[in-house]
Amino acid sequence: MIRVLCSDRKDKETGTVTETYHCISVLFPSFFLLSKHGTQAPQAHRTLLYSLNLNLRCFALHGTCYNTLMEKKRAIFMDRDGTLSHEVGYINDLSRMRPYAFSAEAVQLINRSIWLAIVVTNQAGVARGYFTEELVKEVHQRMESILATGGAKLDDIFYCPHHPTAGEPPYRRDCECRKPKPGMLLKAAEKHNIDLSRSVMVGDKISDVEMAKANGMAGVLVLTGYGRGELTYQSDNWQVQPDHVAENILEAVKWILKN
Ligand SMILES: [Mg+2]
Ligand SMILES: [Zn+2]
Repeated sequence: MIRVLCSDRKDKETGTVTETYHCISVLFPSFFLLSKHGTQAPQAHRTLLYSLNLNLRCFALHGTCYNTLMEKKRAIFMDRDGTLSHEVGYINDLSRMRPYAFSAEAVQLINRSIWLAIVVTNQAGVARGYFTEELVKEVHQRMESILATGGAKLDDIFYCPHHPTAGEPPYRRDCECRKPKPGMLLKAAEKHNIDLSRSVMVGDKISDVEMAKANGMAGVLVLTGYGRGELTYQSDNWQVQPDHVAENILEAVKWILKN
């Protein structure tokens, strides 16, 4: 019996992943669709599969399907503060996490596409002792629940709580995950099988674009948060140019999905 993963469906509400396997018996001319939980649903066309020959053809067909699914994914990486949520300085209290009104729609558009929606955020306030890592997690839960009321779901969130010089160990360290270093991107790529060269980073600082460029990704600058100021006062000094400048995350996502 050969099992081939043919689809990987995610329930939008519960986040439950149902893997569907096509099982091909080489010895018997039958062909079953098996769910992960073992329920067998004979397919209508199994009666047609009466020779080993046909079974092998079927395997080849589903092998192609398998390969397609194993292809690397593309992700839209998003900065958090000033990009998905209002830039209010350090978010040292749950009440300060306020996603923009258009953020849910932006993430929802990503959810309906082939792209993954992933947040990468520096939270050096932890290293500086302004708030705890537990608060960062609670803030992310709040952000996710607010986005969920708008029908949107993030595929993952990565944060860096470190700072190279501020505070005390273990948070005071010259880590690989603090943007613009690529640690969070590399971790996400490994975890979700992402092709970074076909992914995009969206942020409100040119450093987000610099990180994108340094890792072979496209970079989009949004004019929310620090974005408009960066464009107005800093653009003469930019070492890299954004692939696109968008009014906000919603316009950025629309541009990415269109191009
Ligand atoms: Mg930002
Ligand atoms: Zn770090």
